[in-house]
Amino acid sequence: PVDFFSAFTVVLGMGITGLASARFLAQHGQRVYVMDNREQPPYLAQCQALQTVFPQQLFYKTGSFDSEILCRAEQVVISPGLSLTRAEFAAAQQLGIPFISEIELFARHANAPVVAITGSNGKSTVTTLVGEMAAQAGWHVRVGGNLGTPALELLTHPAPDLYVLELSSFQLETTYSLKTAASVVLNISEDHMDRYDSLHAYAQAKARIYQHSRINVINADDPQVVALLDPQHQHSGFSLHCNRATFSVCHHQDKVWLIRHCDETLTYLLSADELLVSGSIMQANALAALALGEAVGIPLEAMLTALRQFQGLPHRCRFVRRYQHIDFYNDSKGTNVGASIAAMQTLARPGQIVLIAGGDGKGADFKPFAEVAATHLRACVTLGRDGDHIGNLLRETMPVVAVNTMAEAVLQAYRLAQAGDAVLLSPACSSLDMFNDYTHRGDVFTQLVLSLAD
Ligand code: ADP
Repeated sequence: PVDFFSAFTVVLGMGITGLASARFLAQHGQRVYVMDNREQPPYLAQCQALQTVFPQQLFYKTGSFDSEILCRAEQVVISPGLSLTRAEFAAAQQLGIPFISEIELFARHANAPVVAITGSNGKSTVTTLVGEMAAQAGWHVRVGGNLGTPALELLTHPAPDLYVLELSSFQLETTYSLKTAASVVLNISEDHMDRYDSLHAYAQAKARIYQHSRINVINADDPQVVALLDPQHQHSGFSLHCNRATFSVCHHQDKVWLIRHCDETLTYLLSADELLVSGSIMQANALAALALGEAVGIPLEAMLTALRQFQGLPHRCRFVRRYQHIDFYNDSKGTNVGASIAAMQTLARPGQIVLIAGGDGKGADFKPFAEVAATHLRACVTLGRDGDHIGNLLRETMPVVAVNTMAEAVLQAYRLAQAGDAVLLSPACSSLDMFNDYTHRGDVFTQLVLSLAD
């Protein structure tokens, strides 16, 4: 029962983002039509409840996307889980109806400085770190976006001191006017190749974060990110090597130091052994967070305190247990090639890692992974849809054991490992072929590891 003579917005997708968008628009007096092609989308009950609050303004439809309704919309808010290129959306796009993200709606209403973070890996960690740095400084900070609270639900009156947003390439594709105080693309490696035609297209989506940013933070170690840099634009850099990037890492008096370089002045900020999480991943994420925090004026001491206290996020290279001189690590969030490469490197035990890998590879090229694996792994245990594909690439350089369950994987990895080794779950694949999500996969692994006994 839509009155098609009054303007309305279509919200595509009845998930967490779609619901946040529908609620926001309805609360702002707009008329909304929510659509999902699933019969039972995840937030159907919440949508029904919202409809009872706004019976004259909110309508919904499940089971298909209705392109006729889409073609009458004033604008379309598309959820990040949906591809812009679906056939049902083509007619509305040809009519020039704007397709925007929930982040675009946020951008039009944001009333405080924004730090925005994207990249193939490390987004959640760096987003959390910047949020903790600002909180440590006593700022009123609101943190969310791709992870946690949808951006629209972060908007508060009075405004906070800072918003910190984690953004995915999908969200950025349909975001046009987000002005940020500082933005970063942490790194670019193949992910979501089932939704992008090329790595270039994926990188271009991420590059949109730099468009209206006061200071662009650059990972000087990643040539794909450096290629996005506009040298005219104010920028700051970070690097894991001792060089002239503003924030980098140097050896000094038998220690590794996180340092700041400005003109001819070099400041030793903190030594890597003061961080509770060891390894190159944590150092890179700490440097990125420092560069972002500095760009928005968070006091240095507060940033360093937050770094010293940070325990890491669950399922990201988390130490689980030492058993029979073997260390077990849960990196279930290692859902793409770049993440698992970084996880193997951060453990820094060349030849002494038994990796558990496999799942849904999302169409990625696993050759770069195989090259790093050849130097870092003692053996690999594979599982899931693309397990055999990974196994075939590794078999020439190491023992490979294919299994069907996580229980077998843990047992086989334990048998293959030797004293002093690490067993690492970092699948380089998404978990959805075997588990509800990466947290489920990581929890199953952790429980199995904790129950290992002689
Ligand atoms: P995202 O939110 O981008 O998925 P997370 O902080 O959740 O990032 O980390 C996901 C995984 O990526 C981790 O499990 C780890 O293996 C890897 N990772 C984390 N930070 C980095 C980094 N800076 N560079 C490369 N890989 C990283």
